[in-house]
Amino acid sequence: DSTSFAVRVAPLGGTGLVLVLAEDQTERRRVEAVRRDFVANISHELKTPVGALSLLAETVADASDDPEAVRRFTGRMQQEAARLTSVIQDLITLSRIQGAEPMAEPDRISMESVVDEALDAVRMAADAKEIELVSSGTEDTTVLGDEGLLVTAMRNLVANAVAYSPERTRVSVTAEAVDDMVEISVADQGIGIPTQDLERIFERFYRVDAARSRATGGTGLGLAIVKHIMTHHRGEVTVWSKEGSGSTFTLRLPRAQTREPLSPGENTNQ
Ligand code: ADP
Repeated sequence: DSTSFAVRVAPLGGTGLVLVLAEDQTERRRVEAVRRDFVANISHELKTPVGALSLLAETVADASDDPEAVRRFTGRMQQEAARLTSVIQDLITLSRIQGAEPMAEPDRISMESVVDEALDAVRMAADAKEIELVSSGTEDTTVLGDEGLLVTAMRNLVANAVAYSPERTRVSVTAEAVDDMVEISVADQGIGIPTQDLERIFERFYRVDAARSRATGGTGLGLAIVKHIMTHHRGEVTVWSKEGSGSTFTLRLPRAQTREPLSPGENTNQ
């Protein structure tokens, strides 16, 4: 990558001096390229199912005298429509959360109930692969935040753990308080992530294996959403992985004070 500068020269009124401003354009160009890629990716992710839908609609029209073929093709149309819905839903979530203002009135949320809700959402997919879901929680794991967003983040992690694991393995979730933070880990015994891909998996639409991701209903946006939800909560997400043996994703969030501070005027003399 070459570095480039925009140079501006401004006379300093009456002094005979000139001010030279050199502005680094490299970062601006990078941001612009990321934006262009993002738009190209969105177009691709939306056009693919729409293209498939229109082909399938033609095929159904031609096969109107074959009820079995009609049933099969309309089934595939439903799958493509579902895929379109999840890409759009993920894009909406991402655009809502990216660069959002800090929460004005965060709620007190127990991460244990967030974990339970996320596990319930993936139980059917896990059962289908005979994947065992185990969760353990220890001390107080209350954080301040938005429950819907935290459930989304958690659900994305456990859904990935199930999607990228073979049958008859285990996905374990632990939630615990560590000093003034709450740590939630999702560990799987799945395919793992190659080291060279690790630092890119949180990028929008980045996938290690695009075919596999699509086959499991992935949009490539799940981890980008997790990362932005964590930033919005002043938290972070990290990953450890070993190809062929499994991955562990960890969320770290500031722990809420055990007690609400007293509101002004509240009687403290008792
Ligand atoms: P996707 O919808 O493709 O799952 P994500 O943003 O959720 O998109 O994840 C990005 C990529 O990271 C995935 O395509 C997959 O290659 C990899 N990945 C995420 N979670 C796991 C996991 N638990 N095990 C193995 N690979 C994973």
